[in-house]
Amino acid sequence: MLNENLEQLSNACGVTGREEEVRNLMIKLMKPYVDKITVDNFDNVIAVKKGKKGFPKVMLAAHMDEIGLMVKTINKEGFLQFAKMGGIDDRILLAQKVIVYTKKGPLHGIIGSKPPHIQKEEERKKIVAYDELFIDIGAESREDANSMGATVGDPIGFDVKYVQIGKDTIIGKAFDNRAGCAVMIETLSQLEKTECTIFAVGTVQEEVGLRGAGTAAFSVDPDVALALDVTVAGDVPGVREFDTSVKMGKGPALTVSDSGLIANPKVLRWLREVAENAKIPYQLETGLLGTTDAARISLTRQGVPSGTICIGTRYIHSPVSMMSLKDAENSAKLTAAAIRNIKKYF
Ligand SMILES: [Zn+2]
Repeated sequence: MLNENLEQLSNACGVTGREEEVRNLMIKLMKPYVDKITVDNFDNVIAVKKGKKGFPKVMLAAHMDEIGLMVKTINKEGFLQFAKMGGIDDRILLAQKVIVYTKKGPLHGIIGSKPPHIQKEEERKKIVAYDELFIDIGAESREDANSMGATVGDPIGFDVKYVQIGKDTIIGKAFDNRAGCAVMIETLSQLEKTECTIFAVGTVQEEVGLRGAGTAAFSVDPDVALALDVTVAGDVPGVREFDTSVKMGKGPALTVSDSGLIANPKVLRWLREVAENAKIPYQLETGLLGTTDAARISLTRQGVPSGTICIGTRYIHSPVSMMSLKDAENSAKLTAAAIRNIKKYF
């Protein structure tokens, strides 16, 4: 079921700030396992599974948004120029197939540039910056592009479909962070009655500065929080063990520290002991330049003890990434086991 849910979530569009399609899916998929679902003023979806009085309130956060593009201008020849939404490396944009989500439905296009055949020697060696690229939707003019539905502000996603390429290995779009969303749903499905109350939150606008997590954490006011997300897997050529020791398929990665969070020591002990007792493999991650919703949640109100459970994923922040289903399964298993044992720690 995790696999099927992740496939649906990965194929859906949720460019940061335009998460509606993913949010609707999340509501549908979480519904059987929770008591109440609301959407807050900032468009986060908050699902509640009620527990008993006197037990802690746990917030799980999985961001629903993905990096992508947005139509910035449409030139008179009918080509779309775009803004970047979230951290995107210009080098990965050229020649990608994309989908422009317009009011009249999706339009397929290609990110183009000046052809190499007519580039000067020096030009060919340079990285083409995103502002020199354009999207070709086959329109003949600005008016034609408009009549096809394209408008300034339309979100643009990468055109990549989910594929399973091995027993446990999958490739697809937006595993950052549909993988965390799928893990959150799977966790809820594994928990019967719980003593603590769980707030499973699908957050918005994480990729542009952890924004949704801020408003959601303020309203939930949790006693402890876990961000379910992905992280960089370093087991590819050119990456030193020192840069990151996290490997694909070797179990969920628990953040010790990253650029926004030093995991609360009690949270870290809780997750490690539960993983060890349940014989779930895990990895520790320290000093990564990047962060998760846990960073913002931990700074809410008077402070919230926070940590992360992340899946080591290859090629994140590119149009297509790769991960192990085993890591996703173990992440859900660990999250559920942690919740079952929370009373010993909080
Ligand atoms: Zn993420």
